[in-house]
Amino acid sequence: MYDVVIIGGGPAGYVAAIRASQLGLSVACVESMSDKEGNQRFGGTCLNVGCIPSKALLDSSQRFYEASNDLSKHGIDAGTVKLDISAMMQRKDKVVDQLVGGISGLFKANKVTPIQGHGKILSGKRVEITNGDSTEIIEAKNIILATGSKPIEISSAKFDDTNIVDSTGALEFKAVPKKLGIIGAGVIGLELGSVWARLGSEVTMLEAMQDFLPMVDKKIAKEVYKEFTKQGLNIKLGCKVTNAVANKTNVNVKYEEDGSSSDEIFDKLIVCVGRSPNTENLLSDDCGIELDDKGFIKVDSFCSTNEPGVWAVGDVVRGPMLAHKGSEEGVMVAERIAGKHAAVNYDLVPSVIYTHPEVAWVGKNEEELKAEGVEYKSGSFPFAASGRALATDESVGSVKVLADKVTDTILGIHIFGPSAAELVQQGLIAMEFGSSSEDIGLTMFSHPTVSEALHEAALAANSNAIHIGNRKR
Ligand code: FAD
Ligand code: NAD
Repeated sequence: MYDVVIIGGGPAGYVAAIRASQLGLSVACVESMSDKEGNQRFGGTCLNVGCIPSKALLDSSQRFYEASNDLSKHGIDAGTVKLDISAMMQRKDKVVDQLVGGISGLFKANKVTPIQGHGKILSGKRVEITNGDSTEIIEAKNIILATGSKPIEISSAKFDDTNIVDSTGALEFKAVPKKLGIIGAGVIGLELGSVWARLGSEVTMLEAMQDFLPMVDKKIAKEVYKEFTKQGLNIKLGCKVTNAVANKTNVNVKYEEDGSSSDEIFDKLIVCVGRSPNTENLLSDDCGIELDDKGFIKVDSFCSTNEPGVWAVGDVVRGPMLAHKGSEEGVMVAERIAGKHAAVNYDLVPSVIYTHPEVAWVGKNEEELKAEGVEYKSGSFPFAASGRALATDESVGSVKVLADKVTDTILGIHIFGPSAAELVQQGLIAMEFGSSSEDIGLTMFSHPTVSEALHEAALAANSNAIHIGNRKR
């Protein structure tokens, strides 16, 4: 009998496995994903078809775009820039394979037992593993469910996996689609839309909501919309796709916008309208585990299910579908099983959209604070006033710091601009230590850095910014 059996080896499951093993527990991790040769692949959505391959393509496509469009401004003539899409994809695959292989190495080093196959939880803390024709049942003192999520399919645009694809298909195009349609202008739509637009696609995004990026601070979302439209993403809001039919070489999409119907042909159509928890054939009828009304495994704030000794972490439970959120939950659960008092601070989960520039935020936005009746003050600083941002031709966007009006405690940080993902992390560390905006204002920042924009925004929250006009009110 194992101390811990984990079903699912993505960033929530594999991290839980390593941490539990470090704490002296005997651990097995069941994972069904394998390559064409049948070799098991850990890392889940994140490493195989999510965070890592998308970031590899975002980086390559940005280099291509800059080499093709921006170098002349710097007095560099790079001649004719050519794209080798197959080499770009090979680089992405190599990065992914290296990281996936790394997890198997970490499992070996930490003595985690890998078990290949599909796991299903049975009553009495037993797990049935099916691999091809063979079935085995193992027992555990604790079970962690970490089976992740899968793309949502909509009836008006069914995947054919060639021309109507999900995010996984959109990471594998063999050629740059001339006309690319995207249903859903959320995180995946913007990231993958940016990749293909930079490589030359004419991108149209069909978004059902009237609000663009409703989870982002409204003023920042407005800046983001303006910039991405300028970059060539044709983002249609309040748009209802009524039917999409894949032909041999393209897709015919019918949609309604502002009361009128349109009909458009795209070479490829990406459907990215969210993801749903993956509980397919995971729970036996008598295992007793409850789901919530949206199909997520029901857990408390410590990721404990209604069955003692059965836990669930990552995308398969409530909260943002983010790799780092799942990993932190995995660590917490492993530590609690080992008798430690671990917890996750759900108030400080950072979010990033890896476009160019990046969008990043943590804590509350203005709309949320208003809705909660919290009195707050706000300080903003535009990258157009940052020396480093101007010197590196990255002066789009701004930083906003929100702080409690009375105590000055930082309540939220919202950034659109260069290195936003890294900048927001600096602010988050300060927030974890209960920092005030004055504390950041009193901190010395290297010059010239884009980080100075965070410094100035924190100063601006108290009307003390140096490089913008903000006379004391
Ligand atoms: P998963 O990573 O989905 O892993 C679950 C694993 O369980 C899978 O390997 C699956 O094969 C296995 N499994 C499922 N059922 C069974 C079963 N019954 N038996 C055995 N094994 C099973 N998040 C970020 O934080 N940053 C990003 O930049 C980012 N980019 C993304 C880009 C894309 C295109 C996508 C699609 C997602 C992205 N995400 C990103 C989200 C991130 O990938 C997920 O939040 C994260 O992978 C969730 O981790 P997880 O371990 O809960 O689930
Ligand atoms: P999302 O929730 O970010 O965006 C989906 C969008 O589709 C929304 O704007 C929604 O209004 C729209 N939509 C829903 N149904 C529609 C319909 N029928 N027609 C048109 N539009 C419709 O989801 P996603 O982009 O699919 O990403 C899934 C998850 O993966 C997200 O939760 C995200 O957190 C995670 N992810 C994270 C990152 C990152 O951290 N950088 C990157 C990619 C994915």
